[in-house]
Amino acid sequence: MHKCRLHETDACPPLRVGCHLSASGGYLAMAQTAVSIGANVFQFFTRNPRGGAAKPIDKADVAAFTEYAAANGIGPILAHAPYTLNAAGAEARVREFAESVMVDDLRRLELTPGAMYNFHPGSHVGQGAEAGIGLIASHLVRVIATVTKGGRPFSTAILLETMSGKGSEVGGTFEEIRAIIDAAEPQLSGACQLGVCLDTCHVWDGGYDIVGGLDGVLAEFDRVVGLGRLKAIHINDSMNVRGSRKDRHEKIGKGKIGLEAFRRIVCHPALRKLPFYLETPCDLQGYREEIALLKELTS
Ligand code: FE
Ligand code: FE
Ligand code: ZN
Repeated sequence: MHKCRLHETDACPPLRVGCHLSASGGYLAMAQTAVSIGANVFQFFTRNPRGGAAKPIDKADVAAFTEYAAANGIGPILAHAPYTLNAAGAEARVREFAESVMVDDLRRLELTPGAMYNFHPGSHVGQGAEAGIGLIASHLVRVIATVTKGGRPFSTAILLETMSGKGSEVGGTFEEIRAIIDAAEPQLSGACQLGVCLDTCHVWDGGYDIVGGLDGVLAEFDRVVGLGRLKAIHINDSMNVRGSRKDRHEKIGKGKIGLEAFRRIVCHPALRKLPFYLETPCDLQGYREEIALLKELTS
């Protein structure tokens, strides 16, 4: 019988695993749905993923959620920015929209302390990766300056998502993620530490061999970015071969990454204590089964 490697060395905490959920019923409904499918974490879009106006926050819902989450051991929750935002856009209008949405999202997230906020760094749309990196870094600096203005406390971890590199996406290599952090962080005056969310489908599609060489990929991540920055995993199989730069998620074990690789991923000592968020093409019943499967892989 397989044993999680941590079992041999360490007290093994329960796996933190959940999935992307619809935010349409509010926070409490998401937490209750999570519990009903065996999850103890969840992810949600802060607003329509195409970037429309956010629903007004219902303070009673937030209060009920906070109590329910504490009683049921739910968290950390991961808010996902609309994926159409482009902080690296060529037009000022596009960049300003990304900025105003992120400021609004981060202000709202202060109502649920300890949440994490994940965003796609952006696409340079022909301006070149270096220009894109500069635009994304200055975007982060402005956003964080605005939300912390006047010394306002700020508790949300901001995570850059590793991308597949499709089109002109920035963040398809660990070096690009590092370059954004290096350009932004010295200007944040310690107001916020930038973290990373690693998406298994994206890094695979981006060329990293997490199937045949997981230890090597994680060593490279550690050398380039630092494992201390890694705060969350998007756990998705991929429809495509390594390096395809396609970004098409598949159900766990049904794609080109495959079940054995996911066993090594969820059991890896560098990853085992991180929260895992599924973004596979599943309905709730499918997610319930995948959550059970991932728990089984670590038992
Ligand atoms: Fe994403
Ligand atoms: Fe993702
Ligand atoms: Zn994706």
